[in-house]
Amino acid sequence: MHWADVESSDLPPEPLIATGITPSGPIHLGSLREILTGDAIRRASESGELLYIADTIDPLRRVYPFLNDSYEKYVRMPLSSIPCPCGSHESYADHYLEPFLETMDSLGIDCSVRYTHKMYAEGLYEDAVRKLIESKDKVVQVLTELTGRTLEGSWYPYNPRCSSCGLLGTADVISFEDPFVHYRCSCGNEGMADIRTDDGKLPWRCDWPARWWILGVDCEPLGKDHAASGGSWDTGIKIIKDIFGTSPPHPIVYEWIQLKGKGVMSSSTGVAIKGEDMIAMVEPEVVRFLLMKTKPQSHIDFDPGLPLLDLVEEYDQTEMRYYDGELEDDQKRVYELSQIDGIPEYPPRRVPYRHLVNLVQIYEDVDDMWEISVGDEYGPDDYERLNKRVEKVRYWIDNYAPGFVKFSIKREMPEVSFDEDEISFIEKYLSSIKDLDGWSDDILHSLVHSTAEEVGIQKGKAFGIFYRMILGQKRGPKLGRFLMQLDRRFLLQRMKETLEK
Ligand SMILES: [Zn+2]
Repeated sequence: MHWADVESSDLPPEPLIATGITPSGPIHLGSLREILTGDAIRRASESGELLYIADTIDPLRRVYPFLNDSYEKYVRMPLSSIPCPCGSHESYADHYLEPFLETMDSLGIDCSVRYTHKMYAEGLYEDAVRKLIESKDKVVQVLTELTGRTLEGSWYPYNPRCSSCGLLGTADVISFEDPFVHYRCSCGNEGMADIRTDDGKLPWRCDWPARWWILGVDCEPLGKDHAASGGSWDTGIKIIKDIFGTSPPHPIVYEWIQLKGKGVMSSSTGVAIKGEDMIAMVEPEVVRFLLMKTKPQSHIDFDPGLPLLDLVEEYDQTEMRYYDGELEDDQKRVYELSQIDGIPEYPPRRVPYRHLVNLVQIYEDVDDMWEISVGDEYGPDDYERLNKRVEKVRYWIDNYAPGFVKFSIKREMPEVSFDEDEISFIEKYLSSIKDLDGWSDDILHSLVHSTAEEVGIQKGKAFGIFYRMILGQKRGPKLGRFLMQLDRRFLLQRMKETLEK
C-alpha cells in the first residue's frame, strides 16, 4: 500500500489534517513536503479536510541574511504587523505567503488557509489561553520535566504584545484579571492584554496543543526537529492530554530535504529552492511525483542540476507505464497522487525534457521548433503541453543547468578554420547524407564514424568539426540527436558554406 493510504487508514472518517508554517522567509521545497504530505493523506482519506495554518502572529526572530538592516527594529514584532519587503503586499507575512499560496494552488492542493493573527483577533484562542493560565503550575511542570530545562521565574504561558513598542516577549506578566493580562514591558510601558484578542499569543509549546484542541485536529505532519525527544511534539501531547483532556493528532514525521552539496533546506540560511522556483522548472505533477514516490520518513537529496532531467524522465516513464497497465499498485498510486486535476483520460504525450534542453537552444520560436522538428511525431493536442514544458526548460537552463549543457547556434558562419582532412570529411559527409534514405539519430551518428574512418581522421576530431561549424565551440550536445534536431536546410547549407570558404 502507498504510504498515504497506510497513514489515512489510521484516521477517523472525515479527518481534519493540519499543517503549519511560519512565513518568515521564502517558502521552499522542504516546506512543500509538509503541505504535500498533508494533501496526500487528505486525498487518500477522500472526505477529509486540510488546513494550512500560517503562523502570521509569530515574531520575526532576527534580521535574516535576505533582509536589510532596517528590519532590526522589527525583530520580535509579529510578522503580520511588519511592512512588506517589496512594498506591494499587505505585510511581511503576506509577502512570503502569497507566492507560496499560488504555488500550492498550481500543485492542486485543496486546503483552507488560516492565519494565526486572525485566529487570535477573532477570539478563537480565548478559552485555551484561560485554561493554560489557570493551569500555569501544571504547564511549568510538564515543560520542565520533558525538556529538562528550568523555566525562568518570569515565564508565563502567555506573551502579551506591548501596546507601546509593539513587541512580543519583552514584557513580564504581573497578574491575570480575566480576561486581562497585566504586564510591564522592558520599554517601560505597563498595560493590559485582552486574551479575547490578538493583544498577545501563547508560546509555541502551548500554542500548538491549544490549536489541536480548538480546531479538533486529527492528523499533523511534522518536521523531525519538533519530533525529537523533549521537543514541542512531546510537550504538546502531554499538554493536550493533561490540560485540555483530549488526545493529540496522529503524527506523521517527515525528513528534511537536502539541497545536494549545500545542506538542509532552510529559509533562514537561504539554502533552499523556493516553491515557486520548483514549478517554474518542472510541471507541478513532477514536484508532486518527487514527494509522492518517497516516504515522508526518507530523506531526499535534491539536485536541481543535471539529475533533474532524470526525475522528469522517471515521471514520463511512469506515466506511460501507467497507461500501459505495467505498474504495481504502489506505483499506480504514486502516479494518481501526482495528478493535479484528476487522471487524464488519454495518455498525455510529452516531448522528452532532455530533448527540449537542446531544442529550446536551437529554436528561439516554439512554432519553428514544432514545424521543423517535433510536429510530425506529435499531434495538435500535444502543442499546449509542449509550450508549457518549453517554458520550464528555458527557466531551468537560465537558472539551474550546468554550463556544459548550454550552447547557442551561430546563425552566421563562426570564425573557424578547417585543415585539409577536415574539409574532405565535410565533403564526404555532405555527399553521403544527401544519399541517405532516411535520417535518424543513429544513422547520422554512425555516418560520422564511417566517414571519419574513410577519410582517416580521429573520431573526436570529426565530432568537433560539427560543433565548431555550428556552435563556434569545441564541444556540444550528443551529436546524432543534435544534428537530427536541426533544421535540415540549415545543416546542409552550413556544410556547403564551410566548403565554399
Ligand atoms: Zn514595550
